[in-house]
Amino acid sequence: LSPVPSDIEISRGQTPKAVDVLAKEIGLLADEIEIYGQSKAKVRLSLLERLKDQADGKYILVAGITPTPLGEGKSTVTVGLVQALTAHLHVNSFACLRQPSQGPTFGVKGGAAGGGYAQVIPMEEFNLHLTGDIHAITAANNLLAAAIDARILHESTQTHKALFNRLVPLVNGVREFSGIQLSRLKKLGINKTDPSTLTEEEMTRFARLDIDPSTITWQRVLDTNDRFLRKITIGQAKTEKGFFRQAQFDIAVASEIMAVLALTDGLEDMKNRLGRMVVASDKKGQPVTADDLGVTGALAVLMKDAIKPTLMQTLEGTPVFVHAGPFANIAHGNSSVLADKIALKLVGGEGFVVTEAGFGADIGMEKFFNIKCRASGLVPNVVVLVATVRALKMHGGGPSVAAGIPLKKEYTEENLQLVADGCCNLKKQIQIAQLFGVPVVVALNVFKSDTRAEIDLVCELAKRAGAVDAVPCHHWSVGGRGSVDLARAVIEAANQGSHFRFLYDVQLPIVEKIRTIAQKVYGAQDIELSPEAQYKIERYTQQGFGNLPICMAKTHLSLSHEPEKKGVPTGFILPINDVRASIGAGFIYPLIGTMSTMPGLPTRPCFYDIDLDTETEQVKGLF
Ligand code: ADP
Repeated sequence: LSPVPSDIEISRGQTPKAVDVLAKEIGLLADEIEIYGQSKAKVRLSLLERLKDQADGKYILVAGITPTPLGEGKSTVTVGLVQALTAHLHVNSFACLRQPSQGPTFGVKGGAAGGGYAQVIPMEEFNLHLTGDIHAITAANNLLAAAIDARILHESTQTHKALFNRLVPLVNGVREFSGIQLSRLKKLGINKTDPSTLTEEEMTRFARLDIDPSTITWQRVLDTNDRFLRKITIGQAKTEKGFFRQAQFDIAVASEIMAVLALTDGLEDMKNRLGRMVVASDKKGQPVTADDLGVTGALAVLMKDAIKPTLMQTLEGTPVFVHAGPFANIAHGNSSVLADKIALKLVGGEGFVVTEAGFGADIGMEKFFNIKCRASGLVPNVVVLVATVRALKMHGGGPSVAAGIPLKKEYTEENLQLVADGCCNLKKQIQIAQLFGVPVVVALNVFKSDTRAEIDLVCELAKRAGAVDAVPCHHWSVGGRGSVDLARAVIEAANQGSHFRFLYDVQLPIVEKIRTIAQKVYGAQDIELSPEAQYKIERYTQQGFGNLPICMAKTHLSLSHEPEKKGVPTGFILPINDVRASIGAGFIYPLIGTMSTMPGLPTRPCFYDIDLDTETEQVKGLF
């Protein structure tokens, strides 16, 4: 239709096929799905065992140039591409997308189901609670947070003997360690299984975690952009006996448990990762883990359904997995390894799985390669790099672009000079993908104000910069048929073969790994470590965590740490203000510049437009 209706109107205009019908079409057995309502189902992991001898499909990553705050259409391209592959070229394909956080949905950005005629439907279910995975993560995260502070309080008020007796109670006259307590004993080097044989000293060591409150890195989380929780004081009631301390909330999708969900390859591995999560150090500087707190089993119970990917469909009825949703600026920015692995089996050797890395290629794609592919062992075949004329004009020196403010005439009228100048960012992002040895196809997501000359110019410059192809796409305005050229280009590129390699060796010291990313990917001259960052790096190295990959928390609005620096900034020194460790997820997490792990609401948030028609129960105003 012209003009193209709103995302929610388009979504609602199409009745999704029943999810059990979709499941059957893609070869799932009846007992491999758990249906939620009519259009969503969780898929059981037993499928991986059944299909273990099946060849994997081709693995395609959708990444982007440095975006404007409005988003340049990576999700839309991902969906348009699978619609083109499956519905128009009859090639099996699957899209794997992240579940959006409700922070941006009600805040600045709106939903993330794609847009126009390239969407996952029903988009309101995709964008709101879905099958509850983020709620499960919030529950698990906050149980662990509660366990830390409660433990500090209880240790302070009880003798070691009383503590021991409570932790290992007498049941029917017998005192027995639980499985998790036995592994704690092992970690402490106490090779005993009968509680009555422990010496006083062993009892004390077992019972007292002696957490140093100043080292607690585990924060509470909430899936709401609530800036007033960025710094809080907890424990102010009298009942907490003066154990108040400063703490903070992070957005739920920044929880390490989200990263664990995204990187795990099965229930046992997830439980092990949850147990390894480090929450603080003890007074001797040793790491304290979720296992030490005895909470691992409970966390696994809370996460047991979240580990199953959710099956949905595109507007053209092709399959989609939605699973895990870490942000790419403050977390690792990629959907789950499990969804990709299952989808690669389901499409078979001739098929394609298209997965998306958040924000610009400098952050989402870098972490996709160095963290996600390292964890999964999967080898990507092609990078689809999404560009828009709008973002290129901004990089070429156009006026700033912000949500809720009408675009200036530079963006609505032809301006070849701005486009040509802005292609420096596209060129740099192509070069970043080439560092990893994977062929790049540029997808120019066409907006209605783009002119023929602008489109041709971008495609020409992209090819000159080293892309194996560059194709304009029209899926937003016409659906999958608008991306058939892109689909053909991707098939062609996948046949070329990829020479995938990691950017750095994980055995390098932490500082060297950070410097490599800063210089080779962002184009920084060097890095500068704050005393806090320096101290944390030394501590993590001493604790034996020096050989993990790096997950940079950096603004997505610039290749540098300064959001207002567009194009390709050079000569800057990247400030590393703090460093955290996500040991269960398996990465070290430097915080660059002034990154906040809890977004705020703008003056006019998206929630102003969201409403419920109480007669029809229809959601309005989501986009
Ligand atoms: P990203 O995944 O890169 O953040 P999205 O795919 O979520 O971006 O798209 C951001 C917004 O832009 C969505 O609301 C989408 O409907 C809109 N959009 C994407 N492509 C187009 C296009 N070609 N024309 C108009 N609007 C578009």
